[in-house]
Amino acid sequence: MKIIIIGGVAAGMSAAAKLSREMPEAQVIVFEKTQEVSYAGCGLPYYVSGENDDINKLRIRTVDQFKKSGIDVRLGHTVIGLDAVNKTIDVENEAGVFQESYDRLIITTGASPIVPPIAGKDLPGVFVLKSLDDALQMRSALEKVNSVVIVGGGYIGLELVEAFVHQNKKVTVIERLDRVLTVFDREFSEQVGEYLRKSGVDLRLEETVTEIREDKDGLLIITDKGSKEAQLVVFAVGVRPSTAFLKDTGIKMVGNGAIVIDDQMRTNLPDVYAAGDCATVNHRVTGKVKYIPLATNANKQGKLIAEILAGKDKSYTQALGSAMIKIMDLELAKTGIGESEAVDYDGEIESVTITAGNHAHYYPGHGKVTIKLVVDKHSKVILGAQLIGAVGTALRVNPFVVAIATKMTASEFGGLDFGYAPPFASTWDVMHIAANAVKE
Ligand SMILES: Cc1cc2nc3c(=O)[nH]c(=O)nc-3n(C[C@H](O)[C@H](O)[C@H](O)COP(=O)(O)OP(=O)(O)OC[C@H]3O[C@@H](n4cnc5c(N)ncnc54)[C@H](O)[C@@H]3O)c2cc1C
Repeated sequence: MKIIIIGGVAAGMSAAAKLSREMPEAQVIVFEKTQEVSYAGCGLPYYVSGENDDINKLRIRTVDQFKKSGIDVRLGHTVIGLDAVNKTIDVENEAGVFQESYDRLIITTGASPIVPPIAGKDLPGVFVLKSLDDALQMRSALEKVNSVVIVGGGYIGLELVEAFVHQNKKVTVIERLDRVLTVFDREFSEQVGEYLRKSGVDLRLEETVTEIREDKDGLLIITDKGSKEAQLVVFAVGVRPSTAFLKDTGIKMVGNGAIVIDDQMRTNLPDVYAAGDCATVNHRVTGKVKYIPLATNANKQGKLIAEILAGKDKSYTQALGSAMIKIMDLELAKTGIGESEAVDYDGEIESVTITAGNHAHYYPGHGKVTIKLVVDKHSKVILGAQLIGAVGTALRVNPFVVAIATKMTASEFGGLDFGYAPPFASTWDVMHIAANAVKE
């Protein structure tokens, strides 16, 4: 069987690596348009921050390693067309365009950072953070920079706040909406906003960047409310699925261009699969088609496609949008639905919010953790959790992931035998307290 994979990072190379073990007899070709495969995109902010000084540590497996396991990796090859009837793709490389046939096609082309079409977006000193090369260039540019403007207050924007603060830069965040981290409920965003301001970050909400100009000291960032000088600007305003080449192929997509897939990662085209940031997921709680571009989904979906092609009865039904972020000394995490996402849920919800210690008050490093739980109003089954607080907060999301996946009620969760020792928790952990605050 000839299997073609388009895109060679998280989803694509997870599929390739698993195929080499599950179907050693198959011919597997990976077309990747850049010169890199298999790297840890999520680690880029920590190279920019200087906490990791070695970019090679972000390279997970090399082309040679893949070749040794029988995968034919072709760098500098961009797929520009698909004929799903004749089962061929058009591929462009330095030499020109050629056609390649497939028995099965796996589309894992990911997503690209959105850059608004404004004047000055291509000036030197204006960045996005997506690739190893972006991180290398940004890190080297930082040496001559005192102040940075981050456009966008989502996950990547706020991870970069930490990176630039770590590098002792003056940081401004300009966000078009009235709050940062909008995947969380409003009160969490507001706490993050306060924390950023207390940490010396100039946070500007409800402000839109309209133009970037060169000025004597670097760049002048013009907004609808004024201007700001800086030497480096990063756009972190979201991503767009890299699926433009599939227009007119009949493949089903949602409004932003993400490919609609079923629980076996099948698209509506025969023998064409998709996974990762170029595709949707089916949300485990709501059953709705959602776009959640996270490595958590990409890696699992890629591996599962390989197992499915090898004939195993597998599916991906676990997507909960589970995510974590660290901003200096503040940790946040979420899974399942928040109150602001309850519109997607075909039932009634209620929520509780509590705050308690991260561990015994007499042990160093004591701080607070706030947990908001969303449960079904009638059954009290846990549907979502959001957490914010001191060290030890983020990983506490994972028991809630299990609870949601197993449809546990708050009262069942509130009696679980979590481990306890003073440096880590309290006998009644903050997670117990949150669950037990839900009235039966
Ligand atoms: C700075 C940063 C931090 C992140 N942090 C986290 C985190 O903490 N947790 C988390 O869960 N996720 C995080 N993510 C998201 C995570 O990196 C992505 O979800 C993941 O990389 C998606 O993998 P993918 O394989 O779907 O796509 P990608 O990693 O985008 O790979 C797609 C590949 O396809 C190639 N390609 C595209 N079009 C074509 C074409 N037509 N022909 C050939 N090749 C093509 C691209 O060049 C690219 O190499 C972060 C992302 C970034 C950028």
